[in-house]
Parts: sequence; C-alpha cells; structure tokens
Amino acid sequence: MRNVLSGMLLFVALGALASRRLDGPRLAAPAAGRREASRPEAGAPMIPVKGVVAAQLKSTFNEGRAGHLHHAIDILAPRGTPVIAAVDGTVRKLFVSRAGGITLYEYDLAGERSYYYAHLDAYAPGIREGLAVHQGDVLGYVGTTGNAPANTPHLHFAIDVLPPTKEWWKGEPIDPYPILTTSASELR
Ligand SMILES: [Zn+2]
Repeated sequence: MRNVLSGMLLFVALGALASRRLDGPRLAAPAAGRREASRPEAGAPMIPVKGVVAAQLKSTFNEGRAGHLHHAIDILAPRGTPVIAAVDGTVRKLFVSRAGGITLYEYDLAGERSYYYAHLDAYAPGIREGLAVHQGDVLGYVGTTGNAPANTPHLHFAIDVLPPTKEWWKGEPIDPYPILTTSASELR
C-alpha cells in the first residue's frame, strides 16, 4: 500500500514537472480572471510606463548624449503617468543625481540585473529601499527631474547586468529596446 501511494505521488510530481516545462508563453492560455492573464511570462520585463505599448517605443540605446552613449531607452509619456516595475524584484536604491534627477534602482529576484528608472516626478507613496515589489507595481511617476527637458517628460530606463559583487552603480548596460518590444509586448 505504501509503495503504491509513493508511486502515485511520484507520478503526480513528474506530471507537474512535465506540464510546467510545456507551460511556455504561447501554450499557456491562462483562465480569464487569473492574475497572470495580462502579464508576460515570468521574468520577461514589461514596459515600465503605464499605458505605453511596444509600437510607441523607439530605440535610443546608441544615441549620443553629452559626452557618452545613451545606453538606455527614453519612454515618452505625460507628466504624472505611473512608472511601474518592469519585473518582480526589490527596490535596491533611491538616489537623486544631477543628470538622472529622482531615480530608482530595482534588482530582479535573482540579483542578476538592475533596472534603473530616472527623471521621476516623485516616488510612489511607500516606496523605500529594500521593498519587495511585483511586476506592475507603481514605483513613481514620469517627470523631468535631472537634465530632462522641461517640456519633454519621459522615463529614462536602463537595464544593467550586475557584476558578481552586485554594486548598483557598476552594471553593464544592455539594450532595453529588443527586450521590451519582443518578450513583453507580444504576450500582453
Ligand atoms: Zn535617457
């Protein structure tokens, strides 16, 4: 009896594993009303400004900026538009800088990448360092703090691969454009 039971349990466990493996973005058709229904595949970043779709994005990663390459994407939106967490993660650093203005660094759950949100008008209420956030949570609002033109509110958004030592200022930038326009948008 015992062996039969454990055999059944193993069978169920294997079945769960197998279905999880097949649970790719296109095969998973979440039931209506489930929280995941409008979310991209776990781990795939979503466009971090509420209401903005992939077709509105423009690649600006390799554009020149004062003395350097941009290495980020600028997402235009009216002042005050909610800026939302691109991925599940942790608020690692709140920082005000001359160029970035009011900024926020979020780390993903694995601590592999940092997500940088700049020129914010303000942080959302309750946002603090160390806070766990879910994809889609409001982090702040689009603005022009720092060196953004006063008449062009936008989110300056960068994705960095973190070094093994995990300093928030030492990441290697990767282009957010292909990440936001393939993985996230198609699944929404
Ligand atoms: Zn920018």
